[in-house]
Amino acid sequence: MARVFIGIGSNVGDRAANIAAALGRVGELPRTRVLKISSLIETEPVGQTNQGKFLNGAAELDTGLDPADLLCELQQIEDKLGRVRTEHWGPRTIDLDVLLYDDRVIDTPELKVPHPLMEGREFVLMPLAEIAPDVVHPTTGKTAAGLLDALRS
Ligand code: ATP
Ligand code: CA
Ligand code: CA
Repeated sequence: MARVFIGIGSNVGDRAANIAAALGRVGELPRTRVLKISSLIETEPVGQTNQGKFLNGAAELDTGLDPADLLCELQQIEDKLGRVRTEHWGPRTIDLDVLLYDDRVIDTPELKVPHPLMEGREFVLMPLAEIAPDVVHPTTGKTAAGLLDALRS
C-alpha cells in the first residue's frame, strides 16, 4: 500500500459539494481509503484570472493502486463529475492532482510526481501542511511545512 497525497480544486457550481462528491468516489476506488481531508481554502485562480475563485484542499490516501492506475481513476472521477476539458488552467468542476506518491519520483508525459508546481503554490502547500506537516518532498528533502515556510519567506 502507498501513502499518497492529492490536491483538490473546484471553481464551478457548488464547489464544496463537488469536492465532497469527488472524495466520496476516491474512497470507493479499489484498495483505497481516504485517511485525512484538509480544510478547504478559497483562492484566486492562477493563469486565467477571469474565472471564479477556487476552493482548494488536500487529502491523504492509502492505496494499492499503482501511480498510473490512480491517475486514470482520478481522471475518470473528474469526467464523471462533469469536468469539461477546455483550456489548460480554465474553470473546472473538479481537479484532482497527485501531489506525492510515497517517496516516488515519476517523470512521464502523463504523470509527474511530485507535482512539479506544488512547491510554488500556497493553495497546495497550506492544506498539505495542515494534514501532513512532516511529510517529506522527495526531491527537495523538505517537509510540507518547510516548503510552506520557504514560500512565504
Ligand atoms: P497544473 O498541473 O498546473 O495543476 P491542471 O491541473 O490544470 O494544471 P490538467 O488539465 O488537469 O492540468 O491536467 C493536464 C495533464 O497533466 C493530465 O492529463 C495529466 O496527464 C497530467 N499530469 C502530469 N502530472 C500529473 C499529476 N501529478 N497529477 C495529475 N495530472 C498530472
Ligand atoms: Ca491542478
Ligand atoms: Ca489536474
